[in-house]
Amino acid sequence: MQELTNLALGSGQPAYRGQQLFDAVYRQKIERLDQVSTLPLEYRARLAEQGWEVGLPRIARKFISSDGTVRYLVELADGETVETVWMPEGDGGESGDGSEAGDEIDSGINAERVGWRRATICVSSQVGCAVNCKFCFTALLGVKRNLEAGEIVGQIAAVLREQGVEPPLQRVNIVFMGMGEPFLNYDNFMKSVRLLADGVGIPESRMTVSTAGIVPRIHDFGHEPLRPKLAISLNGSNDALRSEVMPLNRKWNLGELMKAAREFPLRARERLTFEYVLLADVNDAPEQAREVVELVRGIRAKINLIALNPGTELPYRTPEQERVLAFQRILVAAGIPAFVRRPRGRDIFAACGQLKRTVE
Ligand code: SAH
Repeated sequence: MQELTNLALGSGQPAYRGQQLFDAVYRQKIERLDQVSTLPLEYRARLAEQGWEVGLPRIARKFISSDGTVRYLVELADGETVETVWMPEGDGGESGDGSEAGDEIDSGINAERVGWRRATICVSSQVGCAVNCKFCFTALLGVKRNLEAGEIVGQIAAVLREQGVEPPLQRVNIVFMGMGEPFLNYDNFMKSVRLLADGVGIPESRMTVSTAGIVPRIHDFGHEPLRPKLAISLNGSNDALRSEVMPLNRKWNLGELMKAAREFPLRARERLTFEYVLLADVNDAPEQAREVVELVRGIRAKINLIALNPGTELPYRTPEQERVLAFQRILVAAGIPAFVRRPRGRDIFAACGQLKRTVE
């Protein structure tokens, strides 16, 4: 916003032209500079001469799941692609994190109007990922580059326009859980949060960011005046196990990670989420559930259990449902809210950990 205001002032335009440009891109989602009718014709021409363009990333491909989930392959200006997922009913990931107060009334009205109660958009923060978790497809791509803040917001704006949805009138949740590690692209990620809150009209209380456990950034994030909720990918109940499935654990081990989690300043009624991907006969035993109980003791936390979304190139198997429920029961019996995430869009490779630009 400030950057657009400076741009306008720099060409001798009044400061409010910055706001008009901002609204054109993020609220009206206008495609071309010459269509920004709030700006004088000559200023539009001037901007075009200077090489400026407005517009959103292009939706290159779209895959629709039998459960209503849509996976978008979004093409950026340099031809790179990332994936963005639209989930008309979410995946239950927001259960019990303190964000659903008042939902029953509001969401009923919303459901009558548009046919869904709380859509969730899962957005990418990098092209590929550098973290190398052994059960995740995106890891196979390696990392190509960081996304700009405008490219992160652009994915969301493009999907909202495609779906004909306009926040804040219609309720949308954002999860920074697509391709990439948001905390390894921290500044652009945080800038996109501010753009979404101020420009698109999605309050930060409806956003959740997930990190694989970049400990120094968890600390920084806790001090942000405006921030989404935090989820941490745990996935292993002791250091040996977590290092095996998430080599990143050798850099920031469970001791450091849980210390950062313990010190994280939660807001009133807020809970810290831990995600735990269950891998059959690797990390899904009752004993490991009991280790998780010990790890999170004293933290106002909830746990999202995700049964592995399978893929041919991965050396892991999905546990039986009974095994997942047994794991959940141990957590719940210890007083820890634990939810089993519904897999969304598995048939189109849109579910957690399946994003790798599959087009076949
Ligand atoms: N890089 C961040 C953001 C991605 S969130 C992070 O790791 O938290 C994606 C979530 O999906 C993570 O919790 C991850 O542990 C989980 N995940 C990765 N691969 C998966 C798979 N094959 N099946 C189920 N969940 C998976």
